[in-house]
Amino acid sequence: MYKIMTPGPTQVMENVRLARSLECTNPDLDESFVEFYKETCDKISALLDTKNETLILSGEGILGLEAACVSLTEPGDKVLVLDNGVFGRGFADFVTMYGGEPELYTMDYRNTIDVDALAEFLKEHHDYKFATVVHGDTPSGMLNDVSRICPLLKQYGILTVVDSVSAMFGEELHVDAAQIDILCGGSQKVVSAPPGLTLVTVSQDAKEAMAARKTPIPSFYANLQIFDDYYEHKWFPYTMPISDIYGLRAAVDNIENDPDLLARHARIARATREAFVAAGLELYLESGHSNTVTVFTVPEQTSDLAILRTMREDYGIMIAGSFDVFAGKVIRIGHMGANATVENMIETLAGLDGTFAKLGVPLQASLEDVFKENI
Ligand SMILES: *Cc1c(COP(=O)(O)O)cnc(C)c1O
Repeated sequence: MYKIMTPGPTQVMENVRLARSLECTNPDLDESFVEFYKETCDKISALLDTKNETLILSGEGILGLEAACVSLTEPGDKVLVLDNGVFGRGFADFVTMYGGEPELYTMDYRNTIDVDALAEFLKEHHDYKFATVVHGDTPSGMLNDVSRICPLLKQYGILTVVDSVSAMFGEELHVDAAQIDILCGGSQKVVSAPPGLTLVTVSQDAKEAMAARKTPIPSFYANLQIFDDYYEHKWFPYTMPISDIYGLRAAVDNIENDPDLLARHARIARATREAFVAAGLELYLESGHSNTVTVFTVPEQTSDLAILRTMREDYGIMIAGSFDVFAGKVIRIGHMGANATVENMIETLAGLDGTFAKLGVPLQASLEDVFKENI
């Protein structure tokens, strides 16, 4: 077994794994399970600082993005797609698939969204039903300031769909203050449960937009409206994956019981970046460094595959390359959720020191030493 230090799926703590093995009930007929589901949803809303309803959907994180798009998009709707990364651009496909007209607002992939420039753009262009934005765009490690972006869009009556799958609980986020209409998260990133569940928060404005549709939502499984009366009727639209939800609940309890979680992500991310800079390696981004993943440029003397293989085979640690436009160019270390401990990072950076030595990449300082000095 490798030590998993990828930007999702992450390590899964023992109490989460054990919770998944609890005895099962019939989640359709046992009303106490409806209460358990609702209570888990309410805890997630509280952690995200929102009065909006949270739903837990059976499906990996992508389901949330698709559910948001299919539930809001009607044929001909104009949608502003904020694009400074792979997931950012990817939203356009979901909008197109359901008959919408995405308008890409494409920016530099090495810098965080320039909110002032966006504000200027919106003065002239604001005829959109909703906008999509990625909080943490994981393939490059990009963090966007949704706390400023979403209220700006809302001023023009534009609803917002935010992909926070890899940032949720690892970056500060106050959903109501940020006026986010649909926020998407997943079980396998900072939450640190296995892949398989999507978390979404849905605002009243988003619900009203769904209710005001002229055409039905062309999906059942990804339709956010089908959960509307589940609690009142004690009846889920489909049988809930009970063991996944038991595991998720343990993971949510872990988050609730860890008041240092956000600050620890920030400390680890900062010290990791300082180590790379001191070692003379290049951080891929110029701005917008997230606290959940560090992304560095593959040094010219070697390749991403050589680094990944040496880390796995000689140190037993799995880190990640990237994909799409970043394929082969960068390496990603996921310090999110259960991965984000000082011990895990020391082991990972020590492994990288050794890996670079073996691959003939000279470093100006030891990653491990600089990290230890700065943490
Ligand atoms: C992980 C992730 C998702 C979910 O998709 P995967 O299939 O797990 O890659 C969605 N958005 C972002 C930003 C993610 O990091």
